Amino acid sequence: MRIKTLIILVSLILLPVQTFAYSYSGIHWSTSSASVDSGDSSIPASWITPIARSMSAWNAPASPFYFYVGSNGHKLYAQNSGNNGTPAITYYSYSGNSLIDVDTYFNTYYPWSTSGDSGYYDVQNVLTHELGHWLVLNDLYSSQDAEKTMYGYTSLGETKKRSLDTDDINGINAIYY
Ligand SMILES: [Zn+2]
Repeated sequence: MRIKTLIILVSLILLPVQTFAYSYSGIHWSTSSASVDSGDSSIPASWITPIARSMSAWNAPASPFYFYVGSNGHKLYAQNSGNNGTPAITYYSYSGNSLIDVDTYFNTYYPWSTSGDSGYYDVQNVLTHELGHWLVLNDLYSSQDAEKTMYGYTSLGETKKRSLDTDDINGINAIYY
């Protein structure tokens, strides 16, 4: 089985403008759920609640897919990746169209908050976006997508990505129903 690895999804780079309401590569989980492992020692204890809330955003009652706390290797990490313009990054590997593994790295070069403080990136805000990448929704960069969780730009103090836009929900429904 040939495994293609390390497709990199970056939050803050500029890509050609997309006009889709959501964007999807065709790669997806072959299951209707995935575990999220927040147990790495690099993850502060104070982040566990906002992490759970990010999972809940995608686990809405009508959702065709759900995240659960588990330790099947799909992990969250916090590490200093330097001044690279990217507060968080999600890597995934897949075979054919099926996901094999997904991991997200928060970049602790930048300041983090769990309460939307100005001057800090908000854990729940950023992770809700990154979990969209776990579902293999892609970043959106058109200004008309600016209110969506999958909008590819973020800013210090931002919290609007915590709650999904209709188009984010349409995206997950299109992939997993
Ligand atoms: Zn992104």
